[in-house]
Formats: sequence, structure tokens, C-alpha cells
Amino acid sequence: MVIVMKSDASEEHIAGVVERLADIGCEAHISNGQIRTVIGAIGDRGLIQQLPWEAMDGVDRAVPVLKTYQFVSREFQGEDTVIPVGNARIGGGVFAPIAGPCAVESREQLFRTAEAVKKAGATILRGDAFKPRTSPFSFQGLGEAGLQLLAEAREEFGLPFVAEVLDPRDVEMIAGYADILRIGTRNMANFALLSEVGKVHKPVMLKRGFTATVDEWLNAAEYIYKEGNHQVILAERGIRTFETSTRNTLDISAAPVVKAMSHLPVVIDPSHSSGRRHLVVPLARAAVAVGADGFIIDVHPSPHTALVDGSQAILPDEFAQLMKQIRGLAAVLGLTV
Ligand code: PEP
Ligand code: MN
Repeated sequence: MVIVMKSDASEEHIAGVVERLADIGCEAHISNGQIRTVIGAIGDRGLIQQLPWEAMDGVDRAVPVLKTYQFVSREFQGEDTVIPVGNARIGGGVFAPIAGPCAVESREQLFRTAEAVKKAGATILRGDAFKPRTSPFSFQGLGEAGLQLLAEAREEFGLPFVAEVLDPRDVEMIAGYADILRIGTRNMANFALLSEVGKVHKPVMLKRGFTATVDEWLNAAEYIYKEGNHQVILAERGIRTFETSTRNTLDISAAPVVKAMSHLPVVIDPSHSSGRRHLVVPLARAAVAVGADGFIIDVHPSPHTALVDGSQAILPDEFAQLMKQIRGLAAVLGLTV
């Protein structure tokens, strides 16, 4: 249940609702919007629904939430969540171009890529030090040394960075370096990991599980949100379908679908969804057109030598060209890049 307070509700009115919830053994999650306060009631649904909330002073209306998630829903918060990351922002009409290598391989590879994507207009760098690989014998990433290189690149080029976290035991260490923690598709339903990243004060990018429905994805976001970390960015990265001409099928509709259901920003990954270099640019353009809040793209200076995902990496020049195109598209749509 979401209890929407009147715009002129006083502190006492809000405290009254919180107290009433406590009386029946339930918790209140308060969200102070620009115009009004909204209280999420957590606990026994049956008990909560029985009480005449709308008869209480200061309450405008009580809206039952039929979904299994609550905090990340639009009912709970009408305004878009905007997440500041260094000088960049994600959400609320600002389109965030995120780009970089899939994996950090060396200082030279990372710095060449970071310099190029920065020059082209990316506001956030991607690069992983811990890679989830299908085969245990494939390159697994440079580990903490890779994070140190990413931190140096941040200094050198003024780009905050996003990096994947695979293991709950590494959350604190990685949060000590990265500006955004990423949960990969394989871990979307790793609830221990979700709870752990919910406790840190760093934004979290939550990729959609490749077999997850939108509902399951939003519930995964709820696990992070409910721990107190409200800076969650959703990333659509393709789902597994019967289609084999692409690595995964990009669910481009997920951006407007989710934005109607949730206040969280949604970015699109045209690289991991398509798995093919020639599809990345058209899908990235679609991300802007469909109203996503950003994209995250694999860029590599020599994709044929890449240790991970070379077949889907675009060249720095291709990325620069794409950025020109999306600036034009964003202008037409009234977005800021
Ligand atoms: C990645 O972004 O490098 C990655 C591994 O993505 P996903 O979890 O979507 O496969
Ligand atoms: Mn990859």
C-alpha cells in the first residue's frame, strides 16, 4: 500500500501515519517528493488494507499496490530518479553515453579507449576487472589491478567508471574504486549479492537477467532499493529467445515499458544484446529514439585482438560517429546528452 499525503500535510500528519503503521507491526518508507510526501507501507498486506487510511488527517489517498515490488514503482514515486555520477547525470531527461572496453586488458588498451570515448563525448567509462565467462578457462579479468588502472584513467580523463561485481565478498573493495557497481545478467537474481550492493553508497547498474521478465527485473531492483540504496539504474541487455541471428534479442520496448512502471532510469546495452559489431550503432540510435536514459557500449581500439567480446566492440571512430548522430537525435527529442 502506498499512502499519498496531501500537499499541505504537516510533519505531525506524517508522523501519525508512521505511528499507526508501527502499531500494527508494519514499517513506513517515506519518500519526500517536491510536492508531497508518499509513504510506502511494508508489512502484512491484509492488515494494512483493513485500516481507513483516507480518514486520517493529512492523507490524500491510499493506493493498494498490486505488484510484488513497491519502492521502485511509479506509484511510490512519480518523479524520475536522477542519479549524479561525477559530473554526469543519469535520468530525468539527460541521456548518458557510457562506453569503454568490455574488459580491462592493459594500461595501453584502457587509456587509448578512454581517451577516445571521452573525446567523442562519453560521460562515463565502462571497463571490467572481473569477468563472468561461460568457460572457466577463458580470461577472467585483471582483478584489483584492473580497478587500479580504471581509477588512474578516471584521474587522467575525468571519466567516472562502471565495473561489474560478481561476488558479495568483493562489494566493499570494488565500491572503493568504482563510481557505479554493475550487476551482470547472470547475477540478476543473486539475492545475496543484490542485498550487499544495497548497503553501499554507490549507484548500482542492474542488468536484466537474460531469462527474466520485466516484473522479475523490477523485483531484483527492489532487493537493492529496500536495503537503503536508492541509486539504481536498470540496464536492458537482451533476452534469450528462439532467434539465433543475434547473441540475444534486444527488448527495445523494455525502456518505455519499464519507464511507465518505474521511476528508475533505464539504459540500453546494444553490444551484449546484439553480439555483433554492425548492429551496435543502429541499436544505439534506437535507444535514444525510444526514450532510454543512456546506453552502455563496448569500444575497443583493436577488436580483433580483444580478450573478451571482440566481435561486438566498435572502433573509437565508429563511436565518435555515433555520438554525432545521437546529438542530432537528442536535439530533436529535447534531451540533453
Ligand atoms: C558486460 O557488460 O560486460 C557483461 C558481462 O554484460 P552482461 O552481464 O549483460 O552479459
Ligand atoms: Mn562483454
